[in-house]
Amino acid sequence: MSKDRFFLEVALEEAEIALNDHTYPVGAVIVDQERNIIAKGRNRVHSHQDATAHAEIDAIRNAGSSIFNAKIEGEKFTIYTTVEPCLMCTGGILFAKMRRVVWLLNDGEGFGGYKKINGAGIFERKLNEVDVSDEPYADLKIKQHDLMRQWEENPNHVGNLRSTFKKGG
Ligand SMILES: [Zn+2]
Repeated sequence: MSKDRFFLEVALEEAEIALNDHTYPVGAVIVDQERNIIAKGRNRVHSHQDATAHAEIDAIRNAGSSIFNAKIEGEKFTIYTTVEPCLMCTGGILFAKMRRVVWLLNDGEGFGGYKKINGAGIFERKLNEVDVSDEPYADLKIKQHDLMRQWEENPNHVGNLRSTFKKGG
């Protein structure tokens, strides 16, 4: 099994835990160049009532000082995430000096931000330092897609929260 596949499966496990916590099913893993897992993260937006608690940010927070040690030592970290990073997480990834980003499912219709920022001709020098691999495994992409579909049925999904609000429930 390829190492990318292994780490994406770990990220998927985190996404499943998030769904069971009734929050967005997104997971992330940060790995060093010797392929040790430095940190895992998952979405905690609803579970922590924190709009910024995305999986990538959670993983970066959990990585703590190793982010700065890697920067000093010139070590190249990879972040694996189950969905294309949003605007905020793309910024977080650049601030945390990730050198490679791999994600399972593109999110062009939603809050996916990485490709839009990458195509905007801005922050080019920073973005050129990061290698990107998107949707490398069709079967794992389907698994993430299934988690997103299950999320639509969750009471915390914004559509369901709005209809509950309208009903006065
Ligand atoms: Zn995000």
